[in-house]
Amino acid sequence: MPTAEYTDATPNDVAKRLIAVRQRIEDAVGKAARKPGCVRLLAVSKTFPLSAIAVVATTGQRAFGENYAQEGVDKASQRPDLEWHFIGPIQSNKTRGIAEHFAWVHTIDRLKIAERLSAQRPLGLPPIQVCLQVNISDEPSKSGCRPDDALALCQAIAAQPNLKLRGLMAIPEATNDQATQCRHFAALRHLMAEINAADSSLQLDTLSMGMSDDLESAIAEGATVVRVGSAIFGKRTTPDSHGVSQ
Ligand SMILES: *Cc1c(COP(=O)(O)O)cnc(C)c1O
Repeated sequence: MPTAEYTDATPNDVAKRLIAVRQRIEDAVGKAARKPGCVRLLAVSKTFPLSAIAVVATTGQRAFGENYAQEGVDKASQRPDLEWHFIGPIQSNKTRGIAEHFAWVHTIDRLKIAERLSAQRPLGLPPIQVCLQVNISDEPSKSGCRPDDALALCQAIAAQPNLKLRGLMAIPEATNDQATQCRHFAALRHLMAEINAADSSLQLDTLSMGMSDDLESAIAEGATVVRVGSAIFGKRTTPDSHGVSQ
């Protein structure tokens, strides 16, 4: 498990940062004149140990995001009381563990992965809540389907018996320019609206977009889930691979 030494934060530091992040979210929601509580916080715990997750969980945070399959499965199996979201690139030989331990998968970008997750979801568990990952800023190195392929993929994913398609996810190119951030997030929102208009059976309701550095722009453009790591847990000491295949 690529777990960093967790020296960066006392429980007190983590609790303070979490409160600050929740405040940023509510401020952005207010500024956008959206309904209070309409944005869910996903605490991205990749590379951080269970001890850090436990601290965050004691403040009432339930949803945690992981993006390495083995590390995520290890953590999720030790804390089945929490809600685990998979947010990393998915190799097809790693789908079984994800199907067994995760409530949500944000990073489906091809049908084969959806089919495997559905087939491998254990009997008795609810369907996996899933998002289609879209390469919205057209980055050659990033995961995600082409926007043009999104409708057909959504329809195929929605047909999988053990998946519940909820919406779209994107990791746009990193930039400090707010206008560019907003343009990419708006493109994902427009794409979801187009898909819902083209096929009224889909009823997508989730936009998973925004991280520590751009959550305000994402919320302004309609994010319903923001995925926040370093602003809660502190700096990661291991190399990061956001959406890039390892
Ligand atoms: C790591 C990661 C995040 C969180 O990034 P921070 O900048 O630490 O908030 C969000 N989404 C994905 C897909 C990630 O890989």
